[in-house]
Amino acid sequence: MLIKPTLSFLLILLTTLEGFSGPNTRVVIDPGHGGKDEGAVWYGVRESDLNLKVAKKVEALLIAKNIPVTMTRRSDVFVTLTKRAAVANKYTDVIFVSIHFNAHRLTSVRGVETFYASDKGKPIAISIQRKLVSLLKTRNRYIKRGINYAVLNKTKCPAVLVECGFISNPTERSKCNSSGYQTLAAKGIVSGILQAR
Ligand SMILES: [Zn+2]
Repeated sequence: MLIKPTLSFLLILLTTLEGFSGPNTRVVIDPGHGGKDEGAVWYGVRESDLNLKVAKKVEALLIAKNIPVTMTRRSDVFVTLTKRAAVANKYTDVIFVSIHFNAHRLTSVRGVETFYASDKGKPIAISIQRKLVSLLKTRNRYIKRGINYAVLNKTKCPAVLVECGFISNPTERSKCNSSGYQTLAAKGIVSGILQAR
């Protein structure tokens, strides 16, 4: 009877110290853009659509693991960046994962990258990036500090922004547009979240 509270106390302490998420930590999934803000659009492929598709797959995988989830949008609607951050800021035990696809005027650019703003988000960024690179088998563009992203600097919790691939690169665009790639991206994000705990 004495051991149990001590262990839970230690776990809570560790969680607080490391800033990692725990088994009951909610995940706010943020499909980037939406509605009038389509994000990048290349040859009819809209970033906002891909973001939502991957986000819904992430949602399903997390729900299957009994992890509490909140989506900042579930359809093709416009949501302000402030509102997205406010959704996460309603909770205390929460992490925030914004899902995007990338574009570059140089169409040879490809790969995945993950942004974080505060050190709290960095371990999750490292973990997601590692899983994505191994599952998607594309170029590793590594983790980066993205202090100018409003959703990262307006959220109080550990927060990351994942760029799942470049729709400006012809080969990567057709992959990104496929359900198989989107499923792998979702699996990478989820196992990255789970491993960071
Ligand atoms: Zn975007």
